[in-house]
Amino acid sequence: MAGGWSRDGAVQEQIEDSIKDELARMQARKRPTGESLTHCAECDEPIPEKRRVAIPGVKLCIECQQERDGAYQARGGINRRGSKDSQLK
Ligand SMILES: [Zn+2]
Repeated sequence: MAGGWSRDGAVQEQIEDSIKDELARMQARKRPTGESLTHCAECDEPIPEKRRVAIPGVKLCIECQQERDGAYQARGGINRRGSKDSQLK
């Protein structure tokens, strides 16, 4: 019988250690983002639960987040317009 094998505590300890390690890493990754807000920090609009689940620690509604990212979008728009002009010529 393999009774001796299942009594091997060293293997069990190793497995528990790696699970604890994994859990600690997951918790550490969650913490810096903080808690998700139910309402936008900028305009007080309710933030959809789907968004709060998708982005842990989310602070802004979609509109305010897009406004904050607006600088990048504006630059892209200018580039797109430029390429349209060159297509017409
Ligand atoms: Zn907002």
